[in-house]
Amino acid sequence: MKEKTEGQKIFDQLSYKKKNVYEEADASRIQEIYEYAEGYKAFLDEAKTEREATEAAIAMAERAGYKSYRLGESLQVGDKRYLNNRDRSLILFSIGEEPLAENGIRILASHIDSPRLDLKQIPLYEEAGMAFFKTHYYGGVKKYQWTAIPLALHGVMVKANGESVKVSIGEDASDPIFYINDLLPHLGAKQGAEPLSSAIPGETLNILVGGLPYADKEVSDKIKLSVLSLLNEKYGVTEEDFLSAELTLVPAFKARDIGFDRALIGAYGHDDRVCSYPALTALFAAKDTKHTAIVVLADKEEIGSVGVSGMRSDLLMDLIDEICAAKCAKPSVVRSRSVCLSADVTAAFDPNFSDVYEKRNSAMISCGTCMSKYTGARGKSGTSDATAELVGFVRSIFADHGVIWQTAELGRVDAGGGGTVAQYIANHNIDTVDIGVPVISMHAPYEVVSKADVYSTHEAFVAFLK
Ligand SMILES: [Zn+2]
Repeated sequence: MKEKTEGQKIFDQLSYKKKNVYEEADASRIQEIYEYAEGYKAFLDEAKTEREATEAAIAMAERAGYKSYRLGESLQVGDKRYLNNRDRSLILFSIGEEPLAENGIRILASHIDSPRLDLKQIPLYEEAGMAFFKTHYYGGVKKYQWTAIPLALHGVMVKANGESVKVSIGEDASDPIFYINDLLPHLGAKQGAEPLSSAIPGETLNILVGGLPYADKEVSDKIKLSVLSLLNEKYGVTEEDFLSAELTLVPAFKARDIGFDRALIGAYGHDDRVCSYPALTALFAAKDTKHTAIVVLADKEEIGSVGVSGMRSDLLMDLIDEICAAKCAKPSVVRSRSVCLSADVTAAFDPNFSDVYEKRNSAMISCGTCMSKYTGARGKSGTSDATAELVGFVRSIFADHGVIWQTAELGRVDAGGGGTVAQYIANHNIDTVDIGVPVISMHAPYEVVSKADVYSTHEAFVAFLK
């Protein structure tokens, strides 16, 4: 190799350039990255809703020695516990020996809800030889993407006697799936001239659920009745039980490798399981850390972090109060010394849509986990804007542990923007910065990430909790 000139050496020393994780990796490291992705893919298939993610995370936590915790129970140093919030969100924590009033708590906060179609409370009707469910979409969806693809039904129904019935149809290869009709191109001229945002109105996202009439000439709504009787047979429910149910339609696709080289993963709901899973694996890997660590798997991020299971609820702060009580520390002091990584996805630069990105400050696929000092829209509206000192602190941790990472903001200025849970944690005087995996086709029924970025996020979180 030709020796570098003086100018080239100084350029290397003084200038900043993103690194591609795969380019920096040898064959055994690529194998490590690919092996980690297998566990993540299994988690994706098991945990398509926040309730399923909560359940899957609890199973992982119990295997790692974590025990269930309810507010009010006493805590002590060395405890590894999880707080199940109404089966919809989960907070895991391990209490380290380090003094809390000095070093605070290391927090990783991600979310486990994803955009989808929820059933209305009176969903079932029949028309023109078909039975349908009415839906109300949840989160930021491009409605046209949800027609004419296979869908699976997930959720719970709570019967009048209080019994809760878990529903999951469409995941097993032998299961039927569900579907939203779309217009044939032959009759779609008017639809095709509509803007994408209005071509598929929300009230047309009706789910095709049946077509076989009940065998009794005397009843009306025969197809609806046959659907009800099948549901009654399988789950023991009646139409009234839909009133107290949370049922949701998600894409029936499994997580799959993408590309000849299998470098990427396609799946429903990378946002934000792609940060939740590394947060869990990093927590379980941090066995002998002296820090007190918390991992939050929040719900309702996609609709503004509201409600009892969203990040704006008091629960995390209540739990921090309990942990502080166990260690005789003052919560306000502990919060002021704590650091949180708000672990959520960002938009990866997409050459097919380059005009909405500013290339120098965009997340590049496979260039590692992405820290965003700020997010927001227009004049940074809705961002907590982490301090330069915090970014410097996290950066030094990553440097010490050889983590390949990058920085970016979400798209070109004034092209749009987005928010995360960061502000709701930062509001409590906890230093918080956004970090997470760059995603292609974010919020689509099938999103794409790089295995390299998933693993880099795991490594970043391991370093943070160490
Ligand atoms: Zn998200």
